[in-house]
Amino acid sequence: MSVTADSQRPILKDGMGRTIVNLRISVTDRCNFRCTYCMPADNVEFMDRQKLLTFEELTRLVGVVSRMGIYRLRLTGGEPMLRKDLPDLVRMLHEVQGIEDIAMTTNAFFLKNHAKALRDAGLNRLNISLDALDKEKFAHVNRRDCVQEVLDGIATARDVGFPIKINAVAMRGFSEEEIIKLVEYGRSGGFEIRFIEFMPLDADKIWERDKVLFGHEIVDLIQKKFPLEPIQDSLEIGPASEYRFTDGLGKIGIITAVSNPFCDYCNRIRLTADGKLRTCLFSTNEHNLKELIRGGASDADIEQKIREALVIKEPGHKINLDDFERPDRAMHAIGG
Ligand code: SAM
Ligand code: SF4
Repeated sequence: MSVTADSQRPILKDGMGRTIVNLRISVTDRCNFRCTYCMPADNVEFMDRQKLLTFEELTRLVGVVSRMGIYRLRLTGGEPMLRKDLPDLVRMLHEVQGIEDIAMTTNAFFLKNHAKALRDAGLNRLNISLDALDKEKFAHVNRRDCVQEVLDGIATARDVGFPIKINAVAMRGFSEEEIIKLVEYGRSGGFEIRFIEFMPLDADKIWERDKVLFGHEIVDLIQKKFPLEPIQDSLEIGPASEYRFTDGLGKIGIITAVSNPFCDYCNRIRLTADGKLRTCLFSTNEHNLKELIRGGASDADIEQKIREALVIKEPGHKINLDDFERPDRAMHAIGG
């Protein structure tokens, strides 16, 4: 991985003048969990494996976007660790000139056995999903009874040196009792816990606005036990509004994707496992890069297609507007 000085890196802008630095790559739509907010319980139709971009195709594409100005990658899915030989992909991406940071979002189930290989391959950071510490609540929301395996995975990942953030989807009627337990777990383990407002991306269409536990409510709940103060301008650096504990023991993040979206600061684009470029989590149209790659297009052709897509990157999502349209894909097939 070569580190390019900021001043030498090309700057990639979208049609709204936002600088795009981040590509989220879904490596599979498959998952060993069935979280209620993301996937149906059963009869999920997965992509044919032939349709997935190969490691060589992904590496080529990352070479193209890196020359355009993208230098941060996140591997996601589905569960990215279900993709066979994932450390090999990490190693290949790590060697792409200009890529400075590779992160992964995972449910941590397989980390106990594979964290070290991923770290050695060049993975820099982890975001780990953990919505509940209580065994029954975990089994209910994730539809798998395995909170201990996840906690073991997190411990191993920390032991091999990964910086870790924990993501918890917050849902009214479910999360209220877990929030303080998660905060205490984060404070004692040295993890930033980030609470994400429940978004309308579940496959079963259970999302309703009154199931969203809003960011300000989460902050109020935590404040009662652990006083917080906002970290100014944190939205300009990432999607989470961050707060530090006034006793100095760490911080939390709140991703108010519904109540206060960070679209004005959005610096990311997404690639689905079957090679479609999405310029917004909630995009209702996609740009088929796989067709170009498999059709013999040059790097310049691919770059041109990406630039055209960026010109029309959505100014923002429309969850709060009457003309909001749900995307056809559920979260596991988009890549969260
Ligand atoms: N399987 C991995 C995991 O769970 O971390 C990566 C993929 S998952 C789709 C990525 C992130 O999306 C997770 O943090 C998950 O909690 C979040 N997510 C999924 N569906 C969501 C929804 N409807 N609203 C908010 N966040 C959601
Ligand atoms: Fe799987 Fe992650 Fe979706 Fe849960 S949130 S079903 S772990 S892809």
